[in-house]
Amino acid sequence: MKILVIQTAFIGDVVLTTPFLAAVRERWPLAEINVVATPQGCEILAGLPGLRCHALDKRRTGTIRGFKRILASLGRTTEFDIVFSVHRSLRSLALGKKVRAKRRVAFRSFWSKFFRYETVPYPSYSENTHYVDKPMRLLKAEGEKTGTPRPQLVCSESEIESAQQMLKKLQTERGYIVLSPFSVWGTKMWFADRFAQLGVEVARRYSLPVVIVGGGGGAAEAAIGRTIASRISSGSAKAITLVGQTNLGELKALIRGAKLLVANDSAPVHIAASFNIPTVAIFGPTARKWGFFPLSDESMVVERTDVSCRPCHLHGPEKCPKGHFRCMNDIQVEDVVQAVQNLLR
Ligand code: SF4
Repeated sequence: MKILVIQTAFIGDVVLTTPFLAAVRERWPLAEINVVATPQGCEILAGLPGLRCHALDKRRTGTIRGFKRILASLGRTTEFDIVFSVHRSLRSLALGKKVRAKRRVAFRSFWSKFFRYETVPYPSYSENTHYVDKPMRLLKAEGEKTGTPRPQLVCSESEIESAQQMLKKLQTERGYIVLSPFSVWGTKMWFADRFAQLGVEVARRYSLPVVIVGGGGGAAEAAIGRTIASRISSGSAKAITLVGQTNLGELKALIRGAKLLVANDSAPVHIAASFNIPTVAIFGPTARKWGFFPLSDESMVVERTDVSCRPCHLHGPEKCPKGHFRCMNDIQVEDVVQAVQNLLR
């Protein structure tokens, strides 16, 4: 039996699709499970047993060439028993239609109906359904029970070893705290200077070194990482920035080894959940009810529930449309320190 799962969304969504992949494996233990994801998606899934990941590099090759490469990688004559399009984009649905398949299952939309998928309704954003539970609905057609499991990632020995090498400069015997102050989306980011103040305060209170992570934002992000690290380490505290210096495997390993993660509403929150690392997540223009809240057993969301314009955008707009940016401006360093204190008590 051959199964194809298409999930070409952002890394965080791919991480949150791992319980679905595990459920597919459990339902069809002998099946060959193929996944189409972005190159970063395939990188983050590396090491999960029984998956063959095919990278769709839509940015570098364009949709048509990307499709051709993927179809060649999947095998042009291969017939899949089931194709699950977890991602709801037209591109993912069109790719699923392009491969030979006995059945195709997707969320209900104009295009999934147009391509004659079997469809199930997509849970509404007001349902408070966590994203991990959403792909599970595609299995409901198979009579599967659903729950809200944590994401599941693995780290290889070499990723762990490499992360440990990076931490050599720090004294991490008692552990360390990871700060992830970035996001793909402008308004999802709390302020760098507040992350720096937070780092100073937390490092002082708990005598723990701080590691700043991030990547994908190029030289600008790396400079922010350096500024935060130097602010924290200007006192007695120790901090290093690894922004832009890790691959995703090393990022996983760094988060896996942390005592606590503080991050914006972004992929590291879900990576931490897969290793059950205590997490403080800072939510600005987004909201818990949209289903991306942290799933670690010990986790807290810091958000302003008294800002009437939030949530305003599923991803967070590049700039605050109201101009005041109160959803983030009104989150004080002390609010986040308090959350950290609740988890590190
Ligand atoms: S409109 Fe409101 S929720 Fe949206 S970014 Fe501005 S302050 Fe935040």
